[in-house]
Amino acid sequence: MDRMRRLRQELHRLNLPNFIVTRLSNIRYLCGFSGSSGFLLISPRKARLFTDLRYKSQAARQVENAEVVIYPDELFKELRRRSLKLAGRIGFEGLFLDVASYQQLKDILPNLTWISTEKLVENIAAVKDPEEIAKIRQAAAITDSVFADVLKLIKPGVKELDLSAEITYLHKKRGADGDSFPPIVASGPRSALPHGIASERKIRHGDLVTLDLGCFYQGYASDLTRTVAVGRCLAKLKSVYHLVLKAQTEAIAQARAGMTAKALDEVARKIIQNGGHGEHFGHGLGHGLGLEIHAEPRVFSGSDVMLQAGHVVTIEPGIYIPEVGGVRIEDDVLITNGQAGQAGHAGQAEVLTHSPRDFIIV
Ligand code: ZN
Ligand code: ZN
Repeated sequence: MDRMRRLRQELHRLNLPNFIVTRLSNIRYLCGFSGSSGFLLISPRKARLFTDLRYKSQAARQVENAEVVIYPDELFKELRRRSLKLAGRIGFEGLFLDVASYQQLKDILPNLTWISTEKLVENIAAVKDPEEIAKIRQAAAITDSVFADVLKLIKPGVKELDLSAEITYLHKKRGADGDSFPPIVASGPRSALPHGIASERKIRHGDLVTLDLGCFYQGYASDLTRTVAVGRCLAKLKSVYHLVLKAQTEAIAQARAGMTAKALDEVARKIIQNGGHGEHFGHGLGHGLGLEIHAEPRVFSGSDVMLQAGHVVTIEPGIYIPEVGGVRIEDDVLITNGQAGQAGHAGQAEVLTHSPRDFIIV
C-alpha cells in the first residue's frame, strides 16, 4: 500500500497540486518521521520534509517517500528559498496550522492560493494495514496486562494519583512508548465524571472506581476502560453496570463493515435509553484509534461515516449519575468483513482488548 499515492489521488480529485502537512501524526503516517518539529510539503513532482538540525540523523533514518530538507536557522527563509516557484492551489490542514504561520506562509509564497482542508490524511489513515493492526494489538495487550496488575492495587486508602502513576510506570516498563493519554482514575462520586483525571482522593469502601488507560506502542494507541467496585456496591449501581455491559456487548456483536457509525451508536444508545438512563449517556459511543488516541472514524449519533474493514474503533458506552457514580466499559474493536479468525461466532468485529468485562468486586 502506498500512502502517499492514495493521498495524491485524493489531492488530484480536489484539484490541489500542492499540499502542506502540519499535523505531526499525519507527517509520521505519510513518511515515517516521528520528530516533534517539521512539516511535509507535497508538490506535483516531489514531497519534501522540512525539519531542523536536531532531527538530522533521525530523519535520515526514518523518512521514506520524501526528500529531507534540514534548515539551518529559519524555516520560513528556507521554504522561500526553495519553493518560490510553486504556483496554483495549495491545500493545508485548517485544524492544524496556526494563524501566525498561515499569514507568514502566504507572505513568503505569494503565488499560491491557500485552500483549507479537513481530515484528508486522517480519512486515509483510518483504514489500517496489517502492520498497523499488529501494533494496535500489541498496545492493547500491554494495556490489558497493566490493568490486571493495577486491579490488585485497588483498595481503601489508596490515592487515585498513586494508581495513575502505577499505570504510567507499568506501560513504559512493558515496552510502550508511554501513556496514550493521562490515565483516568475516578472513584466514588468522581466516577460520575466521564473524564475524571486522577486526583488526591483516597479510595473508600463502597466506591465504584473507573480506570481508563491506554498506551502507544510504536506510535499506535490502545484505550481501555473498566469500572470496578470496592468491597460492596449499591444495588442501583450494580444494575447500571449490567445495563452498560449489555449495551456494549450488543454494540460489539453488531459492529460490522457497511453500517454507519451512527447506526452503531444507536445500538448502544437505544439499550441505555430503554433502561431509563438515556440522559446519563452524554457522549458518543467511541472513536477511531491510530497514531492519535482520538482518530477517525468517530462513532457518534451525528456521523454518517460508513464503517469499513480495517477501521479500529473503541466501543465505550457509559452512564454517569451526578453526585452518585458512573460506569463506563470500553474495548478496542477491529471492524472486519467477517473473515478474521478470532472474530467469535456471529459478530464481524474482533475485540483487541481482552480484560474481563464481568462485574468485578475487589
Ligand atoms: Zn478510554
Ligand atoms: Zn476512548
